[in-house]
Amino acid sequence: MDKVIITAAITGSRITREQTPYIPYTPEEIAQSAIGCWNAGAAIVHVHVRDLKTGLGTQDLELFRQVVEPLREKTDLLLCLTTSGIAGRNLPVKDRLVSLELKPELASFDAGSINLGGGVFSNPPEFLDEAARAMKEKGVKPEIEIFDSGMIVTALRMRDEGKLDEPLHFQFVLGTLWGAPATPKSLLYLCELIPESATWSVIGIGIGHLPMSMMGLIMGGHIRVGMEDNIYCTRGELAKTNAQFVERIVRIAREYGREVATPDEARALLGLRKD
Ligand code: ZN
Repeated sequence: MDKVIITAAITGSRITREQTPYIPYTPEEIAQSAIGCWNAGAAIVHVHVRDLKTGLGTQDLELFRQVVEPLREKTDLLLCLTTSGIAGRNLPVKDRLVSLELKPELASFDAGSINLGGGVFSNPPEFLDEAARAMKEKGVKPEIEIFDSGMIVTALRMRDEGKLDEPLHFQFVLGTLWGAPATPKSLLYLCELIPESATWSVIGIGIGHLPMSMMGLIMGGHIRVGMEDNIYCTRGELAKTNAQFVERIVRIAREYGREVATPDEARALLGLRKD
């Protein structure tokens, strides 16, 4: 079985300080937290940035730069920058794709629209076409986020049309209140739909976090952890750092007998080369 790639999703765009005082907001906090995750064994960090006044997610290029530069200087992490902006509050396409200017190795690619957080997370066909085109032009590999099975159908059609290149990399987002549930059966079904050559990782939202991580571990998939997806380390107890989640999954993976991929090993597994 391949080594397991651990992704840390540091902050997202939705969790606020009211929900947990430990959520990183400023570029410094986000970069520090990412470095902690790297030290703990994460190969990839998934990066959003926050508007410093409102605390909400933003697609401000300068803020992204303030996270990306120190991480490139101090770590060999693979960076996966978000293009979702603020899910459910839909920013203009050009704002959403601004993070690609920094030429990350990976960027999120949400392969369809879905209800999310009381609104619609809008990813219409013209956005997907434009995002795929821009990522190809800049040499950024799409991390195809899948909230429901129809999004796989969409991604495979875009591959057939030459808009997405193989090997595809999928990130299954299971257990939102509006999409595919975080159950073993749900994950097994989604895995049946993706091509043999594809790689995949799984996110279990909230209480789905550990069960889906365990499924990823035993099925040979990869695993995303972090406060974007889950803020509790055990029932009712808030995680104080993102590294706590990474440390736990690294510990479990080692006990289970599956090795954890370094960033360069993750690059090889995903078909990426380090410049
Ligand atoms: Zn995200």
